[in-house]
Amino acid sequence: MQSIGGQKMTMPSLLPIEPWVTTKRYETMNNDLFKVNDRKGTKYILGPTFEEEITTIVANDNISYKKLPLRLYQISNKFRDEMRPRSLLLRGREFLMKDMYTFDSTEKDALISYKSVLEAYHRIFKRVGVDYALADADSGDIGGSLSQEFHIFNQDGEDNILNCETCGYTANEEKAVGIIKNVEKISYESFTRWISDQIDYSLDFSISVYLQDIIPKSSQSSPTDSIQSQNINIFIAPHGRNLNMAKCKSFFSENLDLLGNRVLNLNKNIDFSQLTELINTKIENNNNSFYNDNQPLNKNIKYNFRYFVDQQAIDIPEMTHESIKKLVDLLDAKNSFSKTENILHETNVLFSDLVNAENNDQCKKCSANNISSNLVSRKAIEIGHIFYLGTKYSLPLNAKVALKNSTVVPIEMGCYGIGVMRYMQTAVDSTRDNDGLIWPLTISPFSVYILPLLPKTLAKGKSGVCSIEQLIEASNSDDPELQTLISGINKITKILELKESKELSNSSALIKNKQKIFDSENILLDDRFHLATGYKLYDSEMIGIPFTIILGADFFSSKGAFVELKIRKYKNIDNNQDSQTKHENKNKKQFIYRKVPIEDLPSLIFENK
Ligand SMILES: [Zn+2]
Repeated sequence: MQSIGGQKMTMPSLLPIEPWVTTKRYETMNNDLFKVNDRKGTKYILGPTFEEEITTIVANDNISYKKLPLRLYQISNKFRDEMRPRSLLLRGREFLMKDMYTFDSTEKDALISYKSVLEAYHRIFKRVGVDYALADADSGDIGGSLSQEFHIFNQDGEDNILNCETCGYTANEEKAVGIIKNVEKISYESFTRWISDQIDYSLDFSISVYLQDIIPKSSQSSPTDSIQSQNINIFIAPHGRNLNMAKCKSFFSENLDLLGNRVLNLNKNIDFSQLTELINTKIENNNNSFYNDNQPLNKNIKYNFRYFVDQQAIDIPEMTHESIKKLVDLLDAKNSFSKTENILHETNVLFSDLVNAENNDQCKKCSANNISSNLVSRKAIEIGHIFYLGTKYSLPLNAKVALKNSTVVPIEMGCYGIGVMRYMQTAVDSTRDNDGLIWPLTISPFSVYILPLLPKTLAKGKSGVCSIEQLIEASNSDDPELQTLISGINKITKILELKESKELSNSSALIKNKQKIFDSENILLDDRFHLATGYKLYDSEMIGIPFTIILGADFFSSKGAFVELKIRKYKNIDNNQDSQTKHENKNKKQFIYRKVPIEDLPSLIFENK
């Protein structure tokens, strides 16, 4: 974040709700928010994400284009009232997240910021070294028009990722597009006949009907007001296919109330008059109960029938204006209500991509290049998500920038997150083996684990000693074995730090931007002298610190000249696959190195980072 000009900041967890009311997310994210009141009854929320807060902060400052780009980030706990918290750190109601927000004066510059953060995220995840994938994604609650997710494939994942190995196309199921194979497309002629025939001509479809309440919940107008309108949204997809709600909702992004509630969900062979009958019954039941509760009775309703047809459900060779118009006319004629008094209606037909792509669908990108390749569906866990937001937040919250020509326009924004806790858990879940964890070096809580195994002479009479300080206290200060131990630990710490400083100063990047991972704070000393050796050896492998240095019999008998090194990630590696290589010794992934001269430790460790 620092290397792309990010400035670190900390925002409060306790947030005023006003900006959230303005952006309507106080309503749309309602169930996910932790709400609190102060002693005077003023409402707050515990921050689940910070677009509103950061935009308000930036809006307070009259920003000139000269100050942009502005890239701000924080690493802090977020709160979300998850319906199903699960799997340790994967989906907690309080979780650690790194979030960045970028501000630019034009869309072009905002997309440059987006690309900078995208590349920085690639560098972060590559440095950790656990395989991941970048997928096209839906923008969900956050909004905006461009969005991508970083994922780690994991069978416990909640996301389905569709991936084409031929061209590399990767997308979340919410967004993915595939070509359905082995499903016979229904011809345009058959479809029009289906609509025209009264009875006995049925076709296989997957159909969902959504019915809007007569009066949107937020509206205060009375039912006696002239003409009300009601949307009936009918989604038609190929038989056996699931509607993709993210794609369906995208038509209602301005006002989700216009979508309404699902009243019908069919996946069967049905004729159109049956379908119309079912829909009419649903409308009447819904509206009768509405009028029973809300007198006086008024049936001046204009019904908007909207047919959303998946473009793969019907084969329209050329989707001309005429062919669509003909469909509209046919449907229009069928949408007359026999039992309704005032018949006002309007019909629209829209062809679009509405279904979930599935495993084994054909890759659309490859197909466009006349290559046949299948999509593979895999479970994955989301570890990062980036969004180009445009003016979605700056417009309602009045965050503006003065351009060079003095005009004032809404700031262009982006937001970016890494789920630190879930990334940690997922990464370690990918690398672990049957003996326990194997921490990737860059995110390991410690880099080196020093395990002294005291000789009997030094341990004698000190069975209750459980720290290095107590050991020093309980021993003669001139005990040669104690001196060997202390100077050995100090030497290891010093030569590792020296080696790292040298490596960092040789690289071109600024040292302040480089993370130190071999300084004394990252070295763990196991001074639980009261515990049995076997127990501690087991522990050292189970908690999976990358390098373990054992100060045992060889160390004390050589007066600190030799140590034993264990490289955790090689414990269960099959070395046979390397035996064909020319530089066999150099490439060997060896787990245990015995009798290593202490001076050789840094180079051996750095060669196997
Ligand atoms: Zn492909």
